[in-house]
Formats: sequence, C-alpha cells, structure tokens
Amino acid sequence: MSTPDCLFCKIVAGDVPADVVATTDRAVAFRDVAPKAPVHVLVVPREHHRDVAALAAADPALLAEVVALAQQVATDLDEGEFRLVFNTGESAGQSVFHVHGHVLAGARLGWSPA
Ligand code: 5GP
Repeated sequence: MSTPDCLFCKIVAGDVPADVVATTDRAVAFRDVAPKAPVHVLVVPREHHRDVAALAAADPALLAEVVALAQQVATDLDEGEFRLVFNTGESAGQSVFHVHGHVLAGARLGWSPA
C-alpha cells in the first residue's frame, strides 16, 4: 500500500526520479541525493511503513528482504562490508517517514553520531 504524500512511495512508483541501483519484488535501492559516504544508498520496502520498528512488527520477512538487499548493494558497489542505519524518529534524524536503511560503504567509516 502506498501513501499519497510520501516521497519514497513516489520514488518506488517511478513518479519521482531516482538513481535506482537494485530492486527485488518487494524492495528498491536507490542512491541518496546528498551522499555522506562514497557509497550511500537507501534501501526501502515498496510497501509504506513509517519506520523500521513498524516494519519489524508488521512484516519481519520484509525487513529481512530489505537487509538482504543492503548486503547485495554493498557487494555490487563495493567490497561487501557496510554500515546500515535506520534513523527512527525525528530526534534520531529521521526526515522521511517511509522506512529506509542507509547503506554506507566505500571508505573506512568513523563512529561519531553525536
Ligand atoms: P533520514 O534523514 O530520514 O534518515 O534520511 C532521508 C534521506 O533521504 C536523506 O539522507 C536525504 O538526503 C535523502 N533524500 C531526501 N530527498 C531525496 C530525494 O528526493 N531523492 C533521494 N534519492 N534521496 C533523498
């Protein structure tokens, strides 16, 4: 199910352009428009869920498919090691409320979220 005013539902539907790097029946991976690492790809389920906690509760198999797609992207675009970040809630930095994992790779990553 899609939500009319959701940016990532529009990208999944092809109504907003994006640089799509991989797809499955139930998930899509596309490059972040403002990359924070040499590889910065967003992995999203086609179906609208607000955040990763909501997705885990509603459909754990779909969350597993999103994680598997992240692994595939990191292998296809880099060497297979990656950071997967799900900002969950506004204070944690979530700005688009359609669950998405940030796949970050392509460099040795520092650890300083604050
Ligand atoms: P959040 O802040 O919700 O964790 O992540 C949202 C991400 O979506 C941000 O990293 C932002 O750069 C990215 N983003 C926002 N608008 C667009 C867009 O129109 N296209 C793409 N490809 N990425 C977007």
